[in-house]
Formats: sequence, C-alpha cells, structure tokens
Amino acid sequence: MVIKNVALETVCGVTSTLPVNDKIEVAFAGKSNVGKSSLINALMNRKALARTSAQPGKTQTINFYNINNAMYLVDLPGYGYAKVAQSEKEKWGRMIERYLQKSQMLKAVFLLIDIRHDPSANDKLMYDWILYNGYEPIIIATKLDKIKRSQVQKQVKAVREGLGMKGGTVIPFSAETKQGRDEIWEMIDAWIAE
Ligand code: GDP
Repeated sequence: MVIKNVALETVCGVTSTLPVNDKIEVAFAGKSNVGKSSLINALMNRKALARTSAQPGKTQTINFYNINNAMYLVDLPGYGYAKVAQSEKEKWGRMIERYLQKSQMLKAVFLLIDIRHDPSANDKLMYDWILYNGYEPIIIATKLDKIKRSQVQKQVKAVREGLGMKGGTVIPFSAETKQGRDEIWEMIDAWIAE
C-alpha cells in the first residue's frame, strides 16, 4: 500500500454507535505499552497520529483510521493496566466485544505481543476471546530490534507456546527498523483485493 491519505475518521467511546463502513477493517489489540501506537504510526508512515502510551484512567476509545479511502486500521484500546477499576475493565470488555461481534467489515484481528516476554494471562485471554469471536488472531511480535537476531526463533516459539497456537502466523516487527511492515501490508492488500 502506498499511503496517500490517512485520517482519524471515527473515535468511539463506550456508548458511541459503531460506524457502518463500506471498506474493510483490520483491528489491532494488545496490552498497553506493547507498541501498538508505534506500529499503527509505522503502517501509516506517520510519526505520531496514533496516540502513544495513553495513560491509565484516560478515556478508552476505538479509533478508526481511514487509509486512502480503501480500508480502515482500527486501534482497539489497550489492556492490562493493573490500576484500572474493575468497572472500567468491564466497560472495556463490553466495548471490544460489541465491536468484534457487530462489525460487518472486520476482516482480521492482529494481536500484538512483546517479542521479549512470554505472553501474559491477559494476552492468552485476548487470544482465546478473538478466536471465540470467529477470527484467528495474527500475531505481531513487537520490538524486534530489542533482541539479538539469534534469539528471534526461540522467542517466536515461546510466543506460540504461550498462546497455545496450533498454526497461524507470527510476524516479528520493529517500529525502529520497520522490519515486518511490508509483510503486514501485503496481507492487508490481499484482503482489499478479494
Ligand atoms: P502502546 O501503548 O501499545 O500504544 O505502545 P507505544 O507504541 O506507545 O510504545 C510503548 C513504548 O515502547 C514507547 O516508548 C515506544 O517508543 C516503545 N516502542 C514501541 N515499539 C517499539 C519498537 O519496535 N522498538 C523499540 N525499541 N521500542 C518500541
């Protein structure tokens, strides 16, 4: 994808009506700080359009970025802030569930996991929850530049095992070097062309 136009078109809060789009959507989920904003900015060739590291307690929203009027990158709110109240976590859960169940144009869900760490219990829950909703998560193993090249295979294996993956795809990615970016766009471009 050659990026020509990007725009944050819709921001949905807990009670907002979800947009009815006529172009495909791909969504990104992951624990806060995993590098989701950095990935989305890298995909869009923008430095800071997607917010980075939203603070705990800040409004959790689902953000729809319109790319070239051809598709939407959908930024789901991050999870895993220990300090967030249970009531907030429940609202977060309902909002994401509503999106996964209702969106007519959602093509795929990418789940981001830090390549340096074994998946957490929340990562595993998120993985299973995406599967349960009918999507096989595509894993993006983030912060690839932070480990030695010789460690990559071992860490990818740990991610696969930690999530209990039976097949599926893991794409190592670095927002610093942009490694993995083309592979992600190739997948998305193929869905647009379907
Ligand atoms: P988010 O909370 O998931 O949106 O995470 P951010 O994109 O804000 O990233 C959290 C922190 O990790 C920031 O300090 C980023 O600069 C850093 N970061 C994100 N991706 C990478 C990466 O690929 N490589 C390195 N070295 N740092 C990264």
